[in-house]
Amino acid sequence: MYDYLIVGAGLYGATCANILRKAGKNVLIIDKRDTIAGNIYTRDENGIKVHVYGAHIFHTNDDEVWEYVTKFGEFNDYINSPIANYHGEMYHLPFNMNTFKEMWGVTEPEEAEAIIESQRQEIKGEITNLEKQAISLVGRDVYEKLIKGYTQKQWGRPCTELPSFIIKRLPVRFTYDNNYFNAKYQGIPVAGYTALVEKMIEGCDVKLGVDYLKDKASWDSQAEHVIYTGPIDAYYDYKFGPLKYRTVRFETEALSTNDFQGNAVINYTDAETPYTRIIEHKWFNFGKDENGKDIDGTIISREYSTEWSLGDEPYYPVNDEENGALYAKYRALADEDDVIIAGRLGEYRYYDMDQVIRSAIDMMKSKGYTI
Ligand code: UDP
Repeated sequence: MYDYLIVGAGLYGATCANILRKAGKNVLIIDKRDTIAGNIYTRDENGIKVHVYGAHIFHTNDDEVWEYVTKFGEFNDYINSPIANYHGEMYHLPFNMNTFKEMWGVTEPEEAEAIIESQRQEIKGEITNLEKQAISLVGRDVYEKLIKGYTQKQWGRPCTELPSFIIKRLPVRFTYDNNYFNAKYQGIPVAGYTALVEKMIEGCDVKLGVDYLKDKASWDSQAEHVIYTGPIDAYYDYKFGPLKYRTVRFETEALSTNDFQGNAVINYTDAETPYTRIIEHKWFNFGKDENGKDIDGTIISREYSTEWSLGDEPYYPVNDEENGALYAKYRALADEDDVIIAGRLGEYRYYDMDQVIRSAIDMMKSKGYTI
């Protein structure tokens, strides 16, 4: 008999597992996939850590989370500075003086501010959607070239039908600063995320390739407590209907060239290019393997965003009103049940990695554990 059964070997489950092990608990972790680490899983190919489920760049302002996560492996000092390609025109991201210079030829912050100020005049009244939010932040020109097409491709909906908070993730600044995240700490584990998670779950029993929901009662009987980190609607057999997600598909290619695009991330912000971005994985560690040796060849992934349907991998929750209300109904059930349902899929949240760890730490602390 285990003290805890943790369903899902992703970052939330691994954090809980680690804290519980440290407290001397017996933990069994199971996962439907044949791999650990959930969507932060990285595969080693020719020394390149391939981010199989999309680019993951760790960034946080949370001292405790940074101190905690860096115990499990060395992080490099990668700083995310994506580039946008709009029909062959290249722009720096996030929106900063470099972008404004490329867009309007202005070199002084005051000039850029004046242009944005005049362009934002078209927005009157309350900010009710992403389009209004974007134009009021950066003006119509930046919206048209760098936001509109990309966002509609990513979410499969017009910007007028999306909540404004999505775009607030992106900083706007009037300095020449291409650092995408306004974060105190940033980096990527040099040995890959899989190695990091492996370290976190050391000492736990792990069973991969097993479907908890198919045999729930039998799994439950093996442990005192259950932490479930899968989709909350699946746990309740979709009794109120499925929650919506966006899913992402990657076309990954190994190339013999040493440098395909000169940057880890290039966003294709026009509406016509079918993919949203191309990731060149080697640049997440400056073109070097974990021993510091230059890597020959390269691996790229084109990222396509599509509507999710049952059976697909859920990536981004569609946090509109309808799905928020549906989630609340499932949450009410979970609150009554003797199971912890949490993590990105359990809480139906557009979580960054640090927020997942924070949420797991807080949950464990609320049960009296220390990290
Ligand atoms: N976004 C955009 N243009 C870009 C990059 C991002 O308009 O070139 C907007 C888009 O609406 C997206 C949101 O910013 O959904 C958040 O982007 P981020 O890159 O933070 O998302 P993630 O990396 O989580 O996919």
